[in-house]
Amino acid sequence: MTATVRTTCPYCGVGCGIEVTAGDGSPRLSGDKLHPANFGRLCSKGAAVGETLGLEGRLLYPEIQGRRADWNEALAMVARGFQRMIETDGPDTVAFYVSGQLLTEDYYVANKLMKGFIGSANIDTNSRLCMASSVAGHKRAFGSDTVPGNYEDLELADLIVLTGSNLAWCHPVLFQRIVAARGRNPRLRIVVIDPRRTATCDIADLHLALAPGTDTALFNGLLAYLDERDRVDHSFVSAYTDGFEAALASARRVSPNIAAVAEHCGLAAADIDQFYRWCATTSKVVTVYSQGVNQSSCGTDKVNAIINCHLATGSIGAPGTGPFSITGQPNAMGGREVGGFANTLAAHMEFSPENIGRVGRFWNAPRVAAKPGLKAVDMFQAVANGRIKAIWIMATNPVVSLPDADNVRTALERCPLVVVSDAYADTDTIRLADIRLPAQTWGERDGTVTNSERRISRQRAFRPAPGEARPDWWIVTEVARRMGFAEAFPYANPGQIFREHAQLSGFENNGGRDFDISGLADLEIDEYDALEPIQWPVPRGRREGTDRLFADGAFFTPDRPARFVAVGERRPGHATDADFPLVLNTGRVRDHWHTLTRTGRSARLSSHVVEPYVELHPDDAARHGIDHATLARVTSRWGEAIVRAQISETQRRGSIFVPMHWSAEYAETGRIDVVVNPVTDPVSGQPESKHTPVGVTPYRPAWHAFLLSREELTAAGSVSYRVKARSHGCWHYELAGDMTPAHWREWAQALLMQPNSQWLEYADAAAGRYRAAVVRDQCLQACLFIGPDHELPARSWLLELFAKPDLERAERLGLLAGKPPQGQADHGAIVCSCFQVGVNTLVDTIARGLVTTEAIGKTLGAGTNCGSCLPELRNLIARCCGDKAA
Ligand code: SF4
Repeated sequence: MTATVRTTCPYCGVGCGIEVTAGDGSPRLSGDKLHPANFGRLCSKGAAVGETLGLEGRLLYPEIQGRRADWNEALAMVARGFQRMIETDGPDTVAFYVSGQLLTEDYYVANKLMKGFIGSANIDTNSRLCMASSVAGHKRAFGSDTVPGNYEDLELADLIVLTGSNLAWCHPVLFQRIVAARGRNPRLRIVVIDPRRTATCDIADLHLALAPGTDTALFNGLLAYLDERDRVDHSFVSAYTDGFEAALASARRVSPNIAAVAEHCGLAAADIDQFYRWCATTSKVVTVYSQGVNQSSCGTDKVNAIINCHLATGSIGAPGTGPFSITGQPNAMGGREVGGFANTLAAHMEFSPENIGRVGRFWNAPRVAAKPGLKAVDMFQAVANGRIKAIWIMATNPVVSLPDADNVRTALERCPLVVVSDAYADTDTIRLADIRLPAQTWGERDGTVTNSERRISRQRAFRPAPGEARPDWWIVTEVARRMGFAEAFPYANPGQIFREHAQLSGFENNGGRDFDISGLADLEIDEYDALEPIQWPVPRGRREGTDRLFADGAFFTPDRPARFVAVGERRPGHATDADFPLVLNTGRVRDHWHTLTRTGRSARLSSHVVEPYVELHPDDAARHGIDHATLARVTSRWGEAIVRAQISETQRRGSIFVPMHWSAEYAETGRIDVVVNPVTDPVSGQPESKHTPVGVTPYRPAWHAFLLSREELTAAGSVSYRVKARSHGCWHYELAGDMTPAHWREWAQALLMQPNSQWLEYADAAAGRYRAAVVRDQCLQACLFIGPDHELPARSWLLELFAKPDLERAERLGLLAGKPPQGQADHGAIVCSCFQVGVNTLVDTIARGLVTTEAIGKTLGAGTNCGSCLPELRNLIARCCGDKAA
């Protein structure tokens, strides 16, 4: 029996629709052609999500202090633990830290319990790390957290400005939509503003590699330029806005002319002139911004500097126009809707006496929180200093993702009560939990998510939940009931919660609040199950959504005009100095997501980037004695990480980039948030993850190794560097350490030897080399290669041997040499995840004269599925041919 279920991708804020055909075997996945976010497209992550559904590593039963418990006991203990703290020390001594991975219904009940019934606002979400500055900027400008436009605007624009956004890797389907729009519209120009030359620059007409943290100066300069060139829409400004003159005066003071902006931003004046001219002469402009803007101690100011320019030209609310914040997570927007932020009450209502009374009446709540609670970084500092004594963490991994992450780990170690609900049993955070609650995950749970264009979509279950895993909304509801609030938490299914959420959005609204989905408040359960993707607002009496807002100039400030914000000059929280001369920028890689809890389970996704790395400019590498592919220590005042060095001219001098994904589970020394400063934006509370002063020094262990093994191993002994990645049929470890060669054999045999197997070995102690392989029943079980440096045989051919049931004689003979026998190829590191096409195969193909992505796609398939690898393919062609136009 097979059935097709339409659901939504669990990864990024694009919110693509996925069709799942589930039957007796593994479910088959494809892009949902009817979903307006993706129209059938999926990126590499979405296409491989089916690989992450296995039961290995799942948390299947509740646990208390490491022993299995039943649900009743665990829920009662959570309720009692929180109640005891509240009664003894007050409601502000407890906290929830939640996640953009939760569904809106989960978020809603968690917020209702904390703010309405516990009586504290100490609930915050990991979306604080993602786009809190955009939310704060929206509220300052529009009086509400409203994204004015939609994805279609990217296709209708004549100028797209991508600032602080590596769309090609972080929101690949939107990037592909822009690529397609460019093919249809020859007028469309694209400007990328980013200190790094990222894959997104592949489609840029102009790349402005500005100095980190100088975006406000650039956009202030644009505002001054627009005024100087008489491009301000004065009729729009006077009819629908306030504060233009003050904002303009501030812009002129900070950025009086192009020369001053060029000096400040470290850019060529001609490039700035070009950018400003395009903005001044194009009426359809969309400015897309993301974490590069938000993750800053002046992120809110950056957002308002961008919005100021759109308000000045009236470029907002009409097709093909507007400022456009793209969220990182699948349901960051849903969290904003319900009040997942500590400083929002519920349904986009702030903490005014009127709203507190209104929400209290609606919930019939005895003690609605009277003031905002602690934002993420402050919340964990309060855990560290003992002000918070009980915390419940849901579906997130703050020990990896928060800045100054070792401090977060210490705080949780000391916290009297740590509850974690998660789908996975061994995250860095759940290891510290007193009580572990098994949550359902994608494919098992039901509810809604909202993507970056305000579009609410259903996530639908298509498989039974394993063990005793339960939906998050159910877990919170059961705890609330045990705390004495059963009447207010009567829910039997997520549809009931959604209706209540929709009712609250319309309660005493009268058009004064942007978030209103009361048109969906009376959905019957079958209508909720069948709900098609719809953009809010959906006011009472309507069943269709709203594609754009603000075309009528009606904003949500008390007297309705939008507000310009005078944006001054604010330096990053910490400046570089002689000890820490480089700026650390953290971010994402193409095929991984957050802290690897899901994507780390996919061999396909783990093959693109195996190790955490630091990317630095050749001049900086030379200055700090770092060679390509060696190990480097990245150090700040807060901590250190050891990662692989990648030297690249794509990096701006003085800046380095390290991806944020690796956890201790996958790379003990690769947790870069240990290094990141815990500075936050004073308005939004968002951490400054794009600017930490650091030093980089070589890390020189005595030996380097890689180890491939069918069995997952705990590499014991003197291993000081260890990275684990899943591969097809085996685990891939990159290792380094200081053990002497005399101990290698003993160590290797203790680790790898198996009964009834054959041990193959090569040792050259003088040269510092050792190699071993284990073969059982003609099948490769493990191989280990140790050398004095990272110049070890290519891993790709050896990795392929694990997919083979039997080794051929020639393969067996070539094992310890690490080289394929004649007639077999080493395909090289994976570039195209979908078709598993390696770099060596691509280079050979290009050398045979196939020098366009289309030709390569026809021959190898590479780039023809999700398209995420197309920028890398083009770069490779350019490198091989010396022709950037490929
Ligand atoms: Fe998922 Fe990729 Fe779509 Fe993001 S762009 S929602 S990760 S398929």
